Amino acid sequence: MIVVENLHRHFGGFRAVDGASLRIETGSITGLIGPNGAGKTTLFNVIAGVLKPTSGKVTMAGEEITGLPPHELFHKGLLRTFQIAHEFSSMTVRENLMMVPGAQRGETLWETWFNRRQIEADERALLAKADEVLEFLTISHLRDEKAGNLSGGQKKLLELGRTMMVDAKIVFLDEVGAGVNRTLLNTIGDAILRLNKERGYTFVVIEHDMDFIGKICDPVICMAEGKVLAEGTLAEIKANEQVIEAYLGT
Ligand code: ADP
Repeated sequence: MIVVENLHRHFGGFRAVDGASLRIETGSITGLIGPNGAGKTTLFNVIAGVLKPTSGKVTMAGEEITGLPPHELFHKGLLRTFQIAHEFSSMTVRENLMMVPGAQRGETLWETWFNRRQIEADERALLAKADEVLEFLTISHLRDEKAGNLSGGQKKLLELGRTMMVDAKIVFLDEVGAGVNRTLLNTIGDAILRLNKERGYTFVVIEHDMDFIGKICDPVICMAEGKVLAEGTLAEIKANEQVIEAYLGT
């Protein structure tokens, strides 16, 4: 689905991504691992349009998407999850889902005036969709909770839920497990597996928890110093000497 060719992203003279090439297969849950500073987040941000590449090429389903802004990628179904922004923390979980751009239809003042019934029908459909997402993620009981009151893991589930309000094809998840307890991490892992199997989502996941990676990811790609070092199953990656050296070197 995604092909990255010789991608570079430099900050001044520093090469955070230094000629990375990789492929993300349609329907996979690909894990992206590597020591701190390997360039994983920078690579994510370049693919997802948050950062412009210094050079290199990214294609999605054969179409070049290098350097496209996030909202254009969003319409193509490429999403990167983001932490719930401060201004959304005083809104409820359900409202947060309903605010996802692209989930609403574009309304003009004209339409609002003349087409009230249609808008009310759309609003009901949006509510129903939000409730379906909450049920899928087993967080219906948090529906009316303010997003700011959620635990770290619950926030991650909400971030995942936001991708379900639109027709996502590929979702980039950055450190899903950071600060999340084991039970919720399992819930998140199950949700990812189900979205992959039942809805055909492709995922790319940056995560440090190897148990989590081992449970849901195949293949696993290891980066170090801005480059792709190795790709394979987690067992193959763990046995790779270059990978071991890269981790020991940090
Ligand atoms: P990882 O996600 O693998 O830990 P990052 O992509 O976050 O790695 O960072 C790779 C390197 O690039 C790090 O050394 C980091 O300090 C550097 N870096 C990341 N973003 C910037 C930036 N905006 N300006 C300067 N250096 C940056």
